[in-house]
Amino acid sequence: PVRVRFAPSPTGSLHIGGVRTALFNWLCARHYGGQFILRIEDTDEKRFVPGAADDISISLRWVGIDWDEGPDVGGPYGPYVQSQRFEQGIYRPYVDQLLEAGLAYMSFTTEEELTQMRAAAEAAGIKAFRFRGSERDWPLERQRELAASGKPYTVRLKTPLDGETRFSDLIRGGDEIVVQNDQLQDIVLIKSSGMPVYHFAHLVDDHLMKITLVMRGEEWVPSTPYHVLLYDYFGWQRPIFAHLPAILRHDGKGKLSKRKDDVATQRFRERGYLPETMLNYLALQGWSYDGVTEIMNREELIARFSIERIQPSPARWNPEKLRDMNGIYIRKLSREQLAERVLPFMQRAGLIGDPASDTERAYLLQLIPLIHERLEELQEAPELLEFFYCEVTPGVTYQPTDLIPKKHDAVQTVTMLRAAHDVLQRQTDWTAPALETALRTLVEQLGVKPGPLFSAIRIAVTGRSVAPPLFDTLAGVGRERSLERLAAAIA
Ligand code: GLU
Repeated sequence: PVRVRFAPSPTGSLHIGGVRTALFNWLCARHYGGQFILRIEDTDEKRFVPGAADDISISLRWVGIDWDEGPDVGGPYGPYVQSQRFEQGIYRPYVDQLLEAGLAYMSFTTEEELTQMRAAAEAAGIKAFRFRGSERDWPLERQRELAASGKPYTVRLKTPLDGETRFSDLIRGGDEIVVQNDQLQDIVLIKSSGMPVYHFAHLVDDHLMKITLVMRGEEWVPSTPYHVLLYDYFGWQRPIFAHLPAILRHDGKGKLSKRKDDVATQRFRERGYLPETMLNYLALQGWSYDGVTEIMNREELIARFSIERIQPSPARWNPEKLRDMNGIYIRKLSREQLAERVLPFMQRAGLIGDPASDTERAYLLQLIPLIHERLEELQEAPELLEFFYCEVTPGVTYQPTDLIPKKHDAVQTVTMLRAAHDVLQRQTDWTAPALETALRTLVEQLGVKPGPLFSAIRIAVTGRSVAPPLFDTLAGVGRERSLERLAAAIA
C-alpha cells in the first residue's frame, strides 16, 4: 500500500498551495488505499513561527483532510515532529554512517569565509558559486581532531565531481531528469548547532516512516538530485517522486504569492468559503477527472482521483471561479444549514448578540431565503442583511435625495410615498404576496410606473437602492419597522 506524507515547515500560516499538496497526497492514500502521514518539519529555528503548527492542523481539518499518523494522532513511527526526533537522537547515527563511509565530511569554513568566497566568485564573473570544501579530501581522523579542538563545523554532503545524477518523476510521464554532477555543490546536511537541515532530516524520516511516494511542490525538483544521491549513499530504496505543478496567479504572471494574494488558508475560512468548495477547487489545481466535470464532493474526489491525471503544466488560480463555485455550494445547502453557517458571521459583525437565542435563530432563518441565491462568500451576509437589524435613518443611512428617482420631482415622490404609507398602514396581512397585491393596486390607482415608486420604498425601508426583492424585504423588516421608516422618509 502507498504511504504518503505532507511535511510542512511551520513558518507561518498555511499557504493554500500547501493544502493542495496535502490534498493530493491524502487523495492518493484514500483512493489507492494507503496511509497519509502528517509530519512537522521544524528544524529551521530561524524561520519557526510559534502557533504555525496548530494553524496547519486546524486548516487541514477544516477542509476535511485527516491523517492516519501525525503529531496529535501518533503512529508506529513517531514522534512526527522533527525537533522531537532530533532530541531523541534519531538523526545522529545516520550522520555518522555517512561520515564513516566518506560520503559526507565536516566542513570548518565559516559563514564569513563563505560570504567572501561568494563575493570573490562573483567578482571573477562566475555565475553560480558551487561550494566544495577542501576537507572533503581529508581523512576522517583529521576532521574529528579539529572538531574535538572545539572548532565549529557543519556536515556537508560529498557530491560526485563528475558523471550525472538521474531520477524519474511520475507526473512528467516517468521521464528521467538528468543533472550533471559538476552542477551540484556540497550542501550542508547538519548545521553547526547540530541541527539537521531539511534535505537530511526529511530523507531520514521518509525512510524510517516507510514513505513510498514523495509528492510535493515542483519547487523541490532542483533539490531532488541531492536527495537521490543520499538514498544511493545510504543504499536505501528511493521512493517514487511526483512533483506537483506550480499554482500561478490568474494572469499567469508569477506564482501565487504571499505578498500579492490572499493565500493564507484561514483567510478563506474568514471570508466564508465553505470547506467543501475549497476541497473541490483545490483538487482541480493540477488535476482533472475528465476535463469537464468540475463539481465533485469529497467521496467523488476520492473515488475518481488518479495520479495519471495530474498534469505537469502549471495550474491557474482563479479567484472569480472560486467565488462562483462557493456560490454553487452555498445553494446546495438547505436553508437551515446556511443559517447555521452564516450565524458566526452575523455574530462577529455584531448583528446577532446571542447565537443561542431561539428568536435570533428563527429570525435569521426567515431572512435566509432573501440572500440564498446571491451569496458567494458567507462574509457578505451581514452586509446584505444589515438593515434588518439596524436603524435606517434618512440623512445618516441614505441621503433623502436618493429617494427621488431620475426625472421625478421631489413633490411627486413624496406624494407617492405618502400614498404608499397610507395603504400599508391599513394593511394587516404582512406577507410578501399580500404586500405585493396592495402595492400593485396602488400603482394602478395612482397611474404611475411601478419602478420609481418601488425604488423609493426600497430606499426608505432599507437605506439602499440594491436589496433583496421588495415585498420579501418588507415582510422581513416587519410591519412596525417598515411603517416607521416610511414615515421618517416623508417627515
Ligand atoms: N518541509 C518541506 C516544505 O516545507 C517539505 C518538502 C517535501 O515535501 O519534501 O515544503
